[in-house]
Amino acid sequence: MSLAVVFMTIFTLYGCVEEEANHIAEVDADLRPFFERFSEEAQLRGRAINVMDSNIIATLTTSLPLNIIGQCQRNSALPNEVKISKATFLSYSYIEKEYLIFHELGHCILRRSHIDDKDLSGNCKSIMESGLGTCRRIYANGNRTNYLDELFSQ
Ligand SMILES: [Zn+2]
Repeated sequence: MSLAVVFMTIFTLYGCVEEEANHIAEVDADLRPFFERFSEEAQLRGRAINVMDSNIIATLTTSLPLNIIGQCQRNSALPNEVKISKATFLSYSYIEKEYLIFHELGHCILRRSHIDDKDLSGNCKSIMESGLGTCRRIYANGNRTNYLDELFSQ
């Protein structure tokens, strides 16, 4: 990942969101396993989240600007929308894909904002880092549990 990576988030008004039942998410097949895993990891941590039942659209796209690899657009009128760069997705390893998609669902499902805090070694403390800060991204199979604990703690 030598290119500067920019996560972009569009926050629009979302002050009055009505909960509706029986939504079915529209998620590209390639993204679905990660959405399901996000739900499983949430449930392991006591969060009753099933992304596939939420009002969300998620697509692999070629329409994002070159320096944008993922985007969550939260709309006052649902559905929220996740867009993932198709070229980036195809070039990523499984763990990199998980990181990118969990980051965007952190915005779109958990309603989290960016946080660029780092530990004493300079490593990012959260998946919700902006990609513009100075912390080092070290997400990997060996430490993902700690990052997921942090992600679902808010
Ligand atoms: Zn972001």
